Amino acid sequence: MTAPAAADLLAWYDRHRRSLPWRAAAGTRPDPYRIWASEIMLQQTTVAAVKPYYERFMTRFPSVKALAEAPSEEVMQAWAGLGYYSRARNLHACAKAVVAEHGGRFPESEEGLRALPGIGAYTAGAVAAIAFDKPAAAVDGNVERVMTRLFAIEAELPGARPLVRDRVLALLPPTRPGDFAQALMDLGATICTPRNPACGLCPWREPCVARAEGTQETFPRKAKKKAGLIRYGAAFVLTRADGALLLRTRPAKGLLGGMAEVPTSEWRADYELDGAAQDAPLPLRWTQAAQAVRHVFTHFPLELTVFTGTVPAATPAPAGMRFTPLAQLGQEPLSGVMVKVLAAAGLKLPPSAP
Ligand code: SF4
Repeated sequence: MTAPAAADLLAWYDRHRRSLPWRAAAGTRPDPYRIWASEIMLQQTTVAAVKPYYERFMTRFPSVKALAEAPSEEVMQAWAGLGYYSRARNLHACAKAVVAEHGGRFPESEEGLRALPGIGAYTAGAVAAIAFDKPAAAVDGNVERVMTRLFAIEAELPGARPLVRDRVLALLPPTRPGDFAQALMDLGATICTPRNPACGLCPWREPCVARAEGTQETFPRKAKKKAGLIRYGAAFVLTRADGALLLRTRPAKGLLGGMAEVPTSEWRADYELDGAAQDAPLPLRWTQAAQAVRHVFTHFPLELTVFTGTVPAATPAPAGMRFTPLAQLGQEPLSGVMVKVLAAAGLKLPPSAP
């Protein structure tokens, strides 16, 4: 069996690369700002979902300087609908840091990029490789899938991540590392898909160990999710003086899809309450309710710390949210956990509520 060669992947990429709004045309230099913004947006959703937001965002904030100088409400408004606001805040903070500390130019090294707000290992690798053609590995779920199949890596993820990263680094070509990173992403997204990978069209079908053994779809190996690993978060019950509650609608897909909720932080095993103010919908003096709320979903238990606050009657809702009169709460699709949150905040639902 031959060893996989970067040249074969690059030749495939030259013929089949996806046309993406943030991607520079072949042979032209990418704009680091556009690459960085797209990678932050893509962290939480799909290419198809990000495209329209990305176009609007770039029209509104065409440069890192324009983004850094924009009022935060404007950034939040442009982000509304993309998900957790803490990422938008980090995006804004990062733009400000690039302007204030780096004269408006993104650092070129992975280390320099990682020192900026909201940039982790994957994003640093992706931006260093794609925007600056640095020999860096950008390992996301797509790349993990391709590499674990290509080499039939038996070790389980996430523990196998360093191994996958080493394999990517070992394959890096001497030139065009940025195109190599994008080619790997494209291969994972379009050919080496989770189910029914199109191995017949794959530039690495010859050297792929899993394909030879017919075990492609069994990779990557994944450690069983620890059942019952508790997640934590903060929920913000904000009432307006005229008797209305701040709500938003959860994304259509996923847990409690399309349900109404008060704004919350992300729900994570390592959530730190110290930073909860960062996740609040408005900067206010929030009061922590005496009782936290516990709720058990099928795959994990959740503990939400509840914060309450009030604002004057004329206060407009932040972007992507709405004030619903308390008397009409019964018409909102509130989930069981939200009913508990409202109770912990001392709010009684009208009888028609679920
Ligand atoms: S041959 Fe199939 S399983 Fe192997 S890398 Fe290509 S698409 Fe993935």
